[in-house]
Amino acid sequence: MMSEFLPTLEFAKQLDEKDTLSRFREEFYLKPGTIYMDGNSLGLLSKRAEKTLLETLEDWKQYGIDGWTQGKHPWFYMSEELGKKLAPLVGASEEEVIVTGSTTVNLHQLVSTFYKPEGKRTKILADELNFPSDIYALQSQLRLHGLDPDTHLIRVKSRDGRYLDEEDLIQAMTDEVALVVLPTILYRSGQILDMKRLTEAAHKKGIIIGFDACHSAGSIPHYFSEWDVDFAFWCNYKHLNGGPGAVGALFVNRKHFNQLPGMTGWFGSNKEKQFDMEHTFTPANSAGAFQIGTPHVLSLAPLIGSLDMFHEAGIERIREKSLKLTQYLMDLIETELAGMGFHIGSPREEERRGGHVSLEHEEAARICKSLKENGVIPDFRAPNIIRLAPVALYTSYQEVWEVVQILKTIMTEKQYEKFKNEREVVA
Ligand SMILES: *Cc1c(COP(=O)(O)O)cnc(C)c1O
Repeated sequence: MMSEFLPTLEFAKQLDEKDTLSRFREEFYLKPGTIYMDGNSLGLLSKRAEKTLLETLEDWKQYGIDGWTQGKHPWFYMSEELGKKLAPLVGASEEEVIVTGSTTVNLHQLVSTFYKPEGKRTKILADELNFPSDIYALQSQLRLHGLDPDTHLIRVKSRDGRYLDEEDLIQAMTDEVALVVLPTILYRSGQILDMKRLTEAAHKKGIIIGFDACHSAGSIPHYFSEWDVDFAFWCNYKHLNGGPGAVGALFVNRKHFNQLPGMTGWFGSNKEKQFDMEHTFTPANSAGAFQIGTPHVLSLAPLIGSLDMFHEAGIERIREKSLKLTQYLMDLIETELAGMGFHIGSPREEERRGGHVSLEHEEAARICKSLKENGVIPDFRAPNIIRLAPVALYTSYQEVWEVVQILKTIMTEKQYEKFKNEREVVA
């Protein structure tokens, strides 16, 4: 519980008054009459992201082809410039981060670079709770090496279906494992894995380790360089508010800059050499080498404005508020929704809890539909999870309070019973 917690509207308003990040809220397009709790799936549009997108369109209008090197945000350098802006959010140096590809494509790129089966070291270690796309990518990478994913992809089991135990992951790092790929934060329960400890353990056994940071980029600080993580990849449309289909990002530890990327293309070139048009590839001496083709400029542009806000707010302050919001939400759920069949499936300990709360209920699908009818946007993860993400830059404590009051009404009036308990096509 928060110290001095009270379940009253008055208390929520006091928390908002003391909130040092509250000014960012007015920079976002919030729909009147709705409470957005899905920023961990798709972050909202901000005025600054809109501005940098429109400026980029204007550059296209004004400069045509010359927009590559002229205008407000020259396209030729955009991916690198954005990498520099992202680097502090993941604890990396500027050259170690590049904005390119998408989560799944970047995972393919990194596995094709760092997975080198040799002798009896041929297996890839993942976990059974990982996001399906990551698993599909790992399976296909094994097949490309002529290996059977059923025997070569180890998926470490969860003891309770919600969390992973670092001890179990470390136990599974045997001398048959060539590569470990794990999430930073589990997408359902919101558990943070101890990346420092896992990286140390993997390296002790001579294994390369990489992380999927989709749910942690923009929600918690990272120290990838300091922890000596080998690589990481993530999307920029969740907590980082880069827009639907925003270009993703990757981190490569500088000690690996000498590695030739598994999949090479001309945008991975040393920028001075790229337009020499030689048939010998000269890679950039940075994470930029892992780019493949022409950047999706219009899906990069909103990130420029969005990341400025992260810099002004500071990831430490964002994390501090995010923890307070999720704690407050859990406190309210426990006091206001007791005995209504809910279970909080997220860690209580701050160092293990990410940016969202997983609320389990056997009627979750129908309750989500009721929430939407009442103007609350949650997200549903089959079979029984309501994910609620109060976002530090735009969610108020009063909104968190209102969401729980709405949930209480839905349950006491059994409003959910008029819906079918099944998911929509996009959930
Ligand atoms: C959102 C998410 C993805 C999505 O991958 P895309 O290639 O951007 O579609 C992958 N992995 C995790 C863990 C995610 O949360």
